[in-house]
Amino acid sequence: MAGSSGEARGAMSARLVAGQKALVTGANSGIGKATAIALGRAGADVVVNYVAGADEAEKVVDEIKGFGVRAYAHQADVSQEDQVVGMVARMVEELGTIDIMVANAGLQRDAPTVDMTLAQWQKVIDVNLTGQFLCAREATKEFVRRGVVPEVSRAAGKIICMSSVHQIVPWAGHANYASSKGGVGMLMQTLAQELAPQRIRVNAIAPGAIRTPINKDAWNTPEAEADLLRLIPYRRVGDPDDIANAVVAVASDLLDYVVGATLYVDGGMTLFPGFATGG
Ligand code: NAD
Repeated sequence: MAGSSGEARGAMSARLVAGQKALVTGANSGIGKATAIALGRAGADVVVNYVAGADEAEKVVDEIKGFGVRAYAHQADVSQEDQVVGMVARMVEELGTIDIMVANAGLQRDAPTVDMTLAQWQKVIDVNLTGQFLCAREATKEFVRRGVVPEVSRAAGKIICMSSVHQIVPWAGHANYASSKGGVGMLMQTLAQELAPQRIRVNAIAPGAIRTPINKDAWNTPEAEADLLRLIPYRRVGDPDDIANAVVAVASDLLDYVVGATLYVDGGMTLFPGFATGG
């Protein structure tokens, strides 16, 4: 899979976040994995969070260490307050601090609304929305305590929320997921407004269709892929590295003046492609 190699296609090689300490949640699969590797390649020490799949997390750690930076895996369920508190506390103890929090972990539990159980609704909100709140809150405590260290970064800290085009695109059969991502958009903007005076930058990345296990059914047959491509003006399904590179850029001082923004990385999916020939 793209993102699993140091020479991955389109990978950013500049050490844009050298010396910074990053935590990526859900980092043993898909977008989180590619992001953790890209941040390591760009010079950051990285905590690889996972909830299940220790072996894959250790492989990601090994790949990151190959860039000459520090990395370790940490198991925690982002929807559990004590586990998130413990994860950030350990990071501060082991790596000294945190500069970049990538709240990426997410899941889907799809069902038509009339069939959606409260458990399906609650699970998605707990992981995708409450999990991001908890991770942002714990990182912020350390950002505020430490403040800006000019030789490391112009910001006291960066929070990057992994959102989705479904932050703004309604999605039938996925009321829980779309609601969680709509919530992430408002959480991100509110935190950005609240924390900018303390030089904490909060932004979101909103992926379109990226080839990962979460949406395998949408791309793993030629018919499904053809259907999907009709929704993507740029006519290619995204790779995890497309998102990982965006995260590195937003986390770096190159984009220091970007505060409270959602960067859509979606091949134009949010351009209302149905109107290209009609309307
Ligand atoms: P993925 O299934 O490959 O990865 C999701 C990761 O989150 C996995 O590592 C999983 O174990 C982890 N996770 C799930 N529950 C967790 C929990 N409670 N605590 C900690 N980790 C947990 O899927 P992905 O596509 O890489 O998704 C990553 C993020 O990107 C998600 O937030 C998803 O909503 C978002 N996203 C993906 C796409 C896409 O097309 N793939 C599009 C838009 C948004």
